[in-house]
Amino acid sequence: MPGQKIPKFKDMSITDKIKVYNKPKYVYIPLICQNDTNITVAVKKGDYVFKGSIIGKRKGNFRIPIHSSVSGTVVDFEEKLYLNGEKVKCVVIENDFKEKIEDGYNIRKKISDLTKEEFIEIIKNCGIVGLGGAGFPTYVKYNTNQKIDTLIVNAVECEPYITADHMIIKEKCEETLEAIDAIMEINNIKEGIIAIKKGDNTLKNIINNFIGTYLRIKLVEVPNLYPMGWERELIRRVKKVTYNKLPIEKGIIVNNVSTIYAIYEALKLDKPLIERVVTFTGEMLKQPQNVLVKIGTPASEVIEFIEGYKRNKDIKFIAGGPMMGLALSSDDLIISTNLNCVLVVKDTIDIPPIECLRCGKCVQVCPAKLSPVLIKDRINDTLRLKELECERCVECGLCSYICPSKINVREYVKKAKAHVRGEVN
Ligand code: SF4
Ligand code: SF4
Repeated sequence: MPGQKIPKFKDMSITDKIKVYNKPKYVYIPLICQNDTNITVAVKKGDYVFKGSIIGKRKGNFRIPIHSSVSGTVVDFEEKLYLNGEKVKCVVIENDFKEKIEDGYNIRKKISDLTKEEFIEIIKNCGIVGLGGAGFPTYVKYNTNQKIDTLIVNAVECEPYITADHMIIKEKCEETLEAIDAIMEINNIKEGIIAIKKGDNTLKNIINNFIGTYLRIKLVEVPNLYPMGWERELIRRVKKVTYNKLPIEKGIIVNNVSTIYAIYEALKLDKPLIERVVTFTGEMLKQPQNVLVKIGTPASEVIEFIEGYKRNKDIKFIAGGPMMGLALSSDDLIISTNLNCVLVVKDTIDIPPIECLRCGKCVQVCPAKLSPVLIKDRINDTLRLKELECERCVECGLCSYICPSKINVREYVKKAKAHVRGEVN
């Protein structure tokens, strides 16, 4: 059975309410979308921008705009650390703290009355992308001629430390349900499913408190295993079906809770994706908690806002969760739309990897049914890598987690994927 029980460290970040940090003096809006830096820049130094003004637009497929998260003046363009560990060009905007919005937010009373075309247009223009980490433009999923039968709302959040979705349901359950219902109505979807982990009684009780009037939405519990939140596995559990390339082949769309809430704000207020809830957590933070932050805010500023580090040395800084995230060299990271967690843990002495024991454990745990060890062995053999279907890896990290030789198998598989895509020689 694919999936592993792994230790959870969620309690530390759910004791407090979601805090709001909206005072960055400068924001650094990354000019990137889904690792694509092919962006048309729409502003220049000295321009005044409103909160929500378009400052760039993706050029190729899946064009979506990038918005300013503050009102203020464009003062520079600078490269800053992005969650993939690379420096990315950013528009630097000096915040005037006036929170000015060009046309103001008009509240749309009944969001379920929108037509499908209006719905697609709004979520596209608001730059809504999947907030679980993938950053895929959400409108593309809905802009299909295929019949959508089921919307699955992924509230599983199986990474051991991340609690952003949990907190959104806790504090915004009514809004989340209103959005699910509206999305179903607009897209003529007959079935809505909210998937949570078995044993998550807090979420279960909250959702059950509000779900009563939404007869087409039901709550489904899935085993508390990693990576149960992975789309393919989730669909297999919940709907008992498999698909080839995309869930829509089976009439299914999956969105996580944060994305549903971003859609809610877009439909209700025409509010673009300019802020998100990020879990700041780990045993080396004084006050782990979830914070609503403006896109482009330096992570170090938010950490200072929540009382900072327990100590300043021998700490490891990870963008994302411990399983799928990336350890970074510094906390100079910029908050982007696809960053769900900033994790700060003890930097224990790394045990160097030893030779592969050929134990096969990485093969046993791989939810994508790959042979990570064979992929590792053939890292330069593009033809063989294609045969081994390394591209199907979802980068869950279970192979590295389980490896008794302490080999970072996932990194090999990631490199193999890049080889096959022709990104490395
Ligand atoms: S090969 Fe990819 S999908 Fe399989 S366990 Fe490793 S990281 Fe996860
Ligand atoms: S789990 Fe590690 S030691 Fe075992 S086969 Fe895979 S790579 Fe080799």
